[in-house]
Amino acid sequence: MIAEIIVNSNSKALNKIFDYIVPNDMENIIKIGARVFVPFGKCKKLEDGFVINLKETSEFATKEIVKIETEKSITEDNIILAKLMSRKYFCNISDCIRLMLPPGTGGKDISSRTKEKVGNFVFLKRDIDEIELLIQEGKIKSEKHIRVLRFLEQNDGVYVPDLEILIDVNKSVFKTLEKNGHVEIVEKQIERNPFLHKNIEKDKPKVLNDEQKKCYDEICKSIDNSRFSKNLIYGITGSGKTEIYLQLIEKVLEKGKEAIVLVPEISLTPQMIDRFLARFGANVAVLHSKLSIGERFDEWQKISKGETKIVIGARSAIFAPVKNLGIIIIDEEHDISYKSDSTPRYNAKDLAKYIAEKNNCPLVLGSATPDIVTMYQAKNGDINLYTLTKRANNSNLPKVEIVDMRNELAIGNRSMISFKLQDKIEKNLKNKKQTILFLNRRGYSTFIMCRECGYVAKCKNCNISLTYHISENKLKCHYCGFETEVIKECPKCNSKKVKYFGTGTQKLEEEIHKLYSSASTIRMDIDTVSKKNSHEEILNKFKNDNIDILIGTQMIVKGHHFPNVTLVGVIAADSSLNLEDYRAVEKTFQTLVQVSGRSGREKNGEVVIQTYNPDHYAIVEAQKQDYDLFYNQEIDLRKMLNYPPFCDIILIRFSGKNISEIQNLSDYVYRKISKVKKDDMIIYKPVPSPIDKIKNNYRWRIIIKCKLTSKVLDIINYGIEDENIKKKKDTSIIVDINPNTMN
Ligand code: ADP
Ligand code: ZN
Ligand code: ZN
Repeated sequence: MIAEIIVNSNSKALNKIFDYIVPNDMENIIKIGARVFVPFGKCKKLEDGFVINLKETSEFATKEIVKIETEKSITEDNIILAKLMSRKYFCNISDCIRLMLPPGTGGKDISSRTKEKVGNFVFLKRDIDEIELLIQEGKIKSEKHIRVLRFLEQNDGVYVPDLEILIDVNKSVFKTLEKNGHVEIVEKQIERNPFLHKNIEKDKPKVLNDEQKKCYDEICKSIDNSRFSKNLIYGITGSGKTEIYLQLIEKVLEKGKEAIVLVPEISLTPQMIDRFLARFGANVAVLHSKLSIGERFDEWQKISKGETKIVIGARSAIFAPVKNLGIIIIDEEHDISYKSDSTPRYNAKDLAKYIAEKNNCPLVLGSATPDIVTMYQAKNGDINLYTLTKRANNSNLPKVEIVDMRNELAIGNRSMISFKLQDKIEKNLKNKKQTILFLNRRGYSTFIMCRECGYVAKCKNCNISLTYHISENKLKCHYCGFETEVIKECPKCNSKKVKYFGTGTQKLEEEIHKLYSSASTIRMDIDTVSKKNSHEEILNKFKNDNIDILIGTQMIVKGHHFPNVTLVGVIAADSSLNLEDYRAVEKTFQTLVQVSGRSGREKNGEVVIQTYNPDHYAIVEAQKQDYDLFYNQEIDLRKMLNYPPFCDIILIRFSGKNISEIQNLSDYVYRKISKVKKDDMIIYKPVPSPIDKIKNNYRWRIIIKCKLTSKVLDIINYGIEDENIKKKKDTSIIVDINPNTMN
């Protein structure tokens, strides 16, 4: 018997299927998904891998499998899924298998950890991009150091003994890294059970209202009959979607089955988890990137051993090792975090459909502002649609006003805050109410230009303008972390007329202090959020210390419930409208509706949206908080321009340091695909990406528009793979289906 094996390794050279002979004594126990150890090349060390197929003969097999660990196997379903993903998302099978193994460990066992209460944890001290840059520039050379740092980039905050096992290095390495300022070692509580120490009061199911009941009853039919169904619960915030999820899960548990609940990473707050703990107690496992890798490993084990029946987690929790799946729920289904931006570039919503279908159970999507594509499918009858129109607790929606910023200059206001918003902030301060100001750009000034010659300060590694950060008094690149001194004189023409334009959250905070010297403020953006000063802590401080004004980027939009917030100001609603992305308008609308929802959860709330495009339908419908009107206009436009759901967008990106190779290769692939393309495939000529250089890598792209069918997958695969292309080692090619950004 012969086994086809995928080696569990990051190495590109090992990303192939290898044939091995199955020794006679293993023939009865070996199966697809089994974990095996095999000799490899001239190396003495055995490599571990997984069986992905069994067959009778092979021309290539010369070596035998040495060891088998059936108890550490993955399932045959895992293997089938990994194969399917590798084809659909143009990546290696091993990339996909890695998602199905216990977190971060590549299959290694770290469950034998200590019983101590506190321990030393290693945290990155520099930003990820900064470290990558130091590696690129050769300032960090040691292979061991790079291994540790790369590992921490994925899993920041690792318990020292775990790290020693996981990447096979000893303490002295961490000490050196600490001395060089790359990491810090911090003593921290070891929380084996990060959420259960809390004493949460039990809560009981609520009596469902008519709309909720109708939805619950229908989905229950699918649970009762073990039948796949695809469902969308479309209901404004507070309309009782979560209550339906909870009751459906209860039903699933009664049937002896298990549940997976996906939420956007950023909404995975303690408050949100508490609601599940209050209903189901210790029966909940949480997979969250903020947990240390040891903690995540423990949660994974609990699921795997069947000790918990409910998994709540971000995108990758779709791969949690549940045995007897009874429902998949995806909350805030429109959120872009369900689509991965790195290899494998999967969409968890697509996989959820596949997995639910395979397990004969319902898939439930929920949102106040569904993805246009999801709603289109619902309206076409491909998804069962349930609409919740009332807020379950009878609170009111906020009153939303639009301010046309074009008029502000005319009436003598040079500030980034309109007079109307200024009045309302002042009133709020007087009444001791809280305010949230939303601006989706961090830093102080976002653009530095010479007025004499037009020179713009750009990153030396990326084709991106630098942002001025006032607290460090530096210019920074938001793509690669490059930092440089502030410029006062134009490097090109020596003029002193160098001006700083554009506003970020730092400048907004400064302006608030100028206008209202006594107001207390807190700022939340990537610059203020770190491992030790988390998102959660900033929001708690805002709430508990009754800070007057919270200033923040996208991060403030979700999750929290602030009873004392009665005013939300959107400083620049247009900032995301003009992006070259077919979803830019949709994202703007969703963000505006969500951020508005932060106002007046319990009291009458107000929202002010500042814009230069007061007539744009995304802004007009966001003011009315009317998703249906927005949907109707957006879908017409999508149809006219032939965008999803009417077709899929396939982006093929070429990147690398050698620009002429990129040009030649992209042209080669373009011609190859053009020759065999189907009539309904529209393929655009290769062009530089909107951001055509990042981290010293040039970036070109080809865009293809068509429905993604199996035939199309074959064509693309054919187009990007052959011996000629393999020889071009300087250029990496990735394919991204309906990508989050076209940049
Ligand atoms: P959503 O998930 O749509 O934002 P939730 O399920 O969180 O809505 O409900 C909002 C609030 O209303 C919660 O406090 C919840 O406990 C309460 N609620 C939900 N359904 C009911 C119901 N049928 N009766 C009473 N209160 C309810
Ligand atoms: Zn100049
Ligand atoms: Zn850069």
